[in-house]
Amino acid sequence: MTRKTAIDAVDAYFDGGAFQSELAALISYPTESQNPDAAPALMDYLTKAMQPRLESIGFKTEIIPNPDPRGGPLLIGERQEGDDLPTVLTYGHGDVIRAQDGMWREGLSPFELVEEGDRLYGRGTADNKVQHLINIAAIEAVLSVRGHLGFNVRIVLEMSEEVGSSGLAEVFKTHKDRLTADVLIASDGPRLQPEVPTVFMGSRGGMTFDLELTLREGAHHSGNWGGLLADPAIILAHALATITDRRGQIQIAEWRPDSLTDSVRSALDGLPVTGGEGPAVDTDWGEETLTPAERVYGWNSFCVLAMTSGVPEAPVNAISASARATCQLRYVVGTDPADIIPALRRHLDSHGFEAIIITPHDRGFFAATRLDPNHPWVDFVTSSIERTTGKPPHVLPNLAGSLPNDTFTDILGLPTVWVPHSYRGCSQHAPNEHVLKSLSRDALRVMAGLFWDIGAGGTLPR
Ligand SMILES: [Zn+2]
Repeated sequence: MTRKTAIDAVDAYFDGGAFQSELAALISYPTESQNPDAAPALMDYLTKAMQPRLESIGFKTEIIPNPDPRGGPLLIGERQEGDDLPTVLTYGHGDVIRAQDGMWREGLSPFELVEEGDRLYGRGTADNKVQHLINIAAIEAVLSVRGHLGFNVRIVLEMSEEVGSSGLAEVFKTHKDRLTADVLIASDGPRLQPEVPTVFMGSRGGMTFDLELTLREGAHHSGNWGGLLADPAIILAHALATITDRRGQIQIAEWRPDSLTDSVRSALDGLPVTGGEGPAVDTDWGEETLTPAERVYGWNSFCVLAMTSGVPEAPVNAISASARATCQLRYVVGTDPADIIPALRRHLDSHGFEAIIITPHDRGFFAATRLDPNHPWVDFVTSSIERTTGKPPHVLPNLAGSLPNDTFTDILGLPTVWVPHSYRGCSQHAPNEHVLKSLSRDALRVMAGLFWDIGAGGTLPR
């Protein structure tokens, strides 16, 4: 009955084929939360795939209807061993984005798990089915070897992550007492490199808004009126050009975070941001004095998502009446979200662009969260991972993208440690989504070791 026995148990689970057949069963539920017709599959995933499994290992579970009509059901489970033991909250989402049927490569089909070499293809493999499957299987392995966990577990499974986690915050507020814990340990998103575990503790926030300039009713002939009528597209372009300089460095003082501390800098030092999957990084873009890792994980970035004036598909000889740009600020902790739009308003006004209207998007807001890389729970998790894999994991203070992490930090008040089990080339949110078998096996070992260590009776962060 040792740590190694628990890790051997997940090796056997993986090598014997049970992992793959269980993942195939989860992928066969067409849980597209963006598709209203998929509502029965969302419920089936919880009641058929998750509830019996969790109850068989001693969880008390309840299906919670979503208070938000846009969202699907949620599952809350509790496995209590002792009031004086530590409690871990974990989380997963069983919904997936649209299948994109017909866009997958020959031989692949979204809701069928297809094995090719080291890859297992299927919609929802990476995001997020493999991730919570690995964590549940690791808990089961520790339980089977030790007979008990040595800690209490709470689990939340939602079916609406891909529609903005509708209702999640409300459910957390209503059921706050049942979700108290010492730490959130959960999995979503990619590792920086497939062969090295990554730990991250929050995410950048986002704010999406339109900038629109309308000067008059209708367009007017560019010959008869050119030189007489102001061009909204040119004025809007000049306004945008005051927000950043020509290499994208933000010029609005309030949009420049004050949170790039030495501990964040040293956590980011040497992380593999360039190279690997995806396009080549433009090293001459972004904040000049920062490293690429600091630019994406430790700083804010502004971008224009879309921009229009006239009819780009069919231009005519006319001066447009209006121009519009949909813009986004991705921001880290250390930026006041309530002042993002007011600061932009002051900035545009002071540059003479009072006529440009700013309209925030209804669903375009995500809060930023971060835990100090020196937090004791981060130390605990990274030492456990190093003990299992023999090498230190990559530590990110926050993910560059967004995640409903503020519901855990702000409503439940938890330190949040995420251990992602996918990789950057997984085609998440695209056709041909897949996970790597080698990475999944490694992740099972990492999580079995981690859950073993939490229940080992040693001193835990409090
Ligand atoms: Zn997703």
